[in-house]
Amino acid sequence: MVEGSGNGRDVSPQAKRADGRVALVGILALQGDFEAHAKIIEALGHQPREVRVPADLEGLDGLIMPGGESTVMTLGIEREGLAEPIRELVGRGTPVLGTCAGLIMLDRNHLGVLDVVAARNAFGRQLHSFEADLEIEGIEGGPVHAVFIRAPWVAEHGAGVEVLARVDDHPVAIRQGNVVAISFHPELSGETRLHELALALQTPTGRPVRAT
Ligand code: GLN
Repeated sequence: MVEGSGNGRDVSPQAKRADGRVALVGILALQGDFEAHAKIIEALGHQPREVRVPADLEGLDGLIMPGGESTVMTLGIEREGLAEPIRELVGRGTPVLGTCAGLIMLDRNHLGVLDVVAARNAFGRQLHSFEADLEIEGIEGGPVHAVFIRAPWVAEHGAGVEVLARVDDHPVAIRQGNVVAISFHPELSGETRLHELALALQTPTGRPVRAT
């Protein structure tokens, strides 16, 4: 069964949440490791939908912006006319999780959804790729095993941004309203708690979280 009018594939129409309601979670699927996120969404009992065109954003209960290559993703978002529809979705209070390049895409210099500036490849050549166990604000049950791959960190952020975790004093997990954005890849270690944290978010005021 293919739901929606876009090109996106709904991977698991049978998935249900514990309360019986199917949560439809979009995963930007222009480039990057969107399939690993789909598996996490399924493991949580949600229904993933690959997002490639604006119509795929309709009716979503949540959106994942995956890791990959932010320059390639920027071109894809422009080509498909996805920037404004994504901003609208976030502005309506839809829970969003951005990981790695996904964090970069949400910053002031890209979609302008988060009041942050991401520094690309911030850990430098020596730390091209590394793993760390991180305590993250709002996540119970022990540290999160975080896989960093040519990861960004948050170089600047506004007062409305809450820092949830740091590495060497640099923010690597943040929250602003209905958006959680992280520098690392929880999907590669089968970690589901960041997805759960993000999907539980809503803005109490329904106010847009777009940076001004
Ligand atoms: N270095 C990539 C970029 O700048 C991000 C890497 C990732 O998503 N793992 O776009």
